[in-house]
Amino acid sequence: MKIEQDRVVRFHYSVAEAGKDAIENSKEAGQPISILFGRGQIIPGLEKAMEGHEAGDSFKAAVTAAEAYGERRDGLTQRIPKKHFGVQRLVAGMQVVLNTNHGPRAVVIEKVGMSVVDVDLNHPMAGKDLEFDIEIVDVREATEEELAHGHVHGEGGHEH
Ligand code: ZN
Repeated sequence: MKIEQDRVVRFHYSVAEAGKDAIENSKEAGQPISILFGRGQIIPGLEKAMEGHEAGDSFKAAVTAAEAYGERRDGLTQRIPKKHFGVQRLVAGMQVVLNTNHGPRAVVIEKVGMSVVDVDLNHPMAGKDLEFDIEIVDVREATEEELAHGHVHGEGGHEH
């Protein structure tokens, strides 16, 4: 079964900045990722690269920054009280996850002061061309319920 709009796709991936070692690898985390295809649950460039593939396919996909996490934007530095970072030792260049009103957000530490921390709110992978290694594990039709909810149920998906 080919990957197309509104099918459920399970896949393994690893992602690297172009020409560098992998940053993330779903096999290390153990479980493949499940998505409802064509709903923007993964970056646009990867969705394009996956379309039409089927279970068992392995392939590489080069995705430009614009089709991945977007270009870096200037002026996204924000000063945040240190108490929001918990007890971990903070170092410039470190990537941390902040809990915001809009949910968890990955940010990069720019500068650590006595009581405040400057962070860069650009996505850590913004402005970077990425290379993916993709392995399609499984492709199936979504259920009516999954289509109505807009997400995958069962293995690798929501349980509710
Ligand atoms: Zn649901």
